[in-house]
Amino acid sequence: MSVVNQNIDSTALFVIQPTNFCNIDCGYCYLADRVSKNSMPFEVADRIADRIIEHKDYLTKKTVVSWHAGEPLSVGISKLGRYFDIFEKLHDHGIVFEHSVQTNAMLINQRFAEMFAKRKIKVGVSVDGSQEQHDYYRRTRGGKGTFEKVKSGIEILHRNAVSVSAIAVIHQKTFRDPDAFYDSMLDLGIPYVGLNVLEVEGASRTSYLTSDDPRAEFENFIEQVFKRSINDGSLAIRELVRVLKTIMFPKIKAKSAEAATGRIITINHEGDFSTFSPELIDHEVLDLGNHIIGNVDGSGFLTSLRRATTSTYATEIRRGVEKCSSDCEYFDYCGGGAPANKLLENGAFNSTETAFCRYTVKSIFDVALRMIAEDSSLLERAAQAQWWKLLYEEL
Ligand code: SF4
Repeated sequence: MSVVNQNIDSTALFVIQPTNFCNIDCGYCYLADRVSKNSMPFEVADRIADRIIEHKDYLTKKTVVSWHAGEPLSVGISKLGRYFDIFEKLHDHGIVFEHSVQTNAMLINQRFAEMFAKRKIKVGVSVDGSQEQHDYYRRTRGGKGTFEKVKSGIEILHRNAVSVSAIAVIHQKTFRDPDAFYDSMLDLGIPYVGLNVLEVEGASRTSYLTSDDPRAEFENFIEQVFKRSINDGSLAIRELVRVLKTIMFPKIKAKSAEAATGRIITINHEGDFSTFSPELIDHEVLDLGNHIIGNVDGSGFLTSLRRATTSTYATEIRRGVEKCSSDCEYFDYCGGGAPANKLLENGAFNSTETAFCRYTVKSIFDVALRMIAEDSSLLERAAQAQWWKLLYEEL
């Protein structure tokens, strides 16, 4: 991870929230304000683009501008297209970047798909597995499952040759049927999926992970989907790629992007921005106040980041990472975890283990090591997979 100075990292990801509004009502949603029909004025988008240009010496080689949370497509096609137009000026300044859009896919139609294809915008779809697994939480405000609509949105994207990947929230329904999950990803033509374990975050304060511990079921799920990914080689699973990268390249130590000042900058529809875990932008937590460090109408990113490094919560986050580094044998793979999870689960940034990291770091790493120990040909077979080249990305 490149570093601007001792305490500030170069920025790899801008998470832009063009609206808080979401057109559906998932049971696990952490956004507190998802019924509010606000959206980002064009002047704010323009200021964001200007601020990124000012920050250009502090960006990674390729920066991602991710339109995310609530449902970005709900602002409408002409507004979203105009935001993308505004960002075109980044190219004039030699900034290498790509847009990505994270969507629930309910509003995808031919016009959206054509726009994404024409502008080469990557689309991440939120889909949780088979119809039964997906509809368990992902429902409309009227309580109807959303799977059919999502499936048809993904088909439209494929017909228009849009680059599609998926984020799946996995939960008890998913754990119990890894094959249904894996088959659904293949049926939907998804080439790459990231697994997000249902967690304690924001307005979604309850999680089954903190009650009965279903770790054995979870580990079985992970083992089965990892095996299928290695054996058929067609579906890349983000967590498998990450863990194999650590095993193959042990000298490369992980660093948590969410715990690094400046690595991720999250900006809401009013132009307020924060760093560290994107979820923190919405929260006033404990006695630390909210985590907004500036507004694009005020000072630039770098000035605000410099100020942020001396804040109480940034110091607490650093202390938490230092504790992880001295106490946790998974540190080289994890890099110190997600501050949002530490705060929401443990009540303190300056802390270490969470249920989130027990699952998404420790269990996943243990499963992968166990699989390799039990089957010496596994790495050789994984190297034949279509997705193996991803291990060499961003090395
Ligand atoms: S696995 Fe958990 S305890 Fe270990 S370094 Fe990561 S966040 Fe810290």
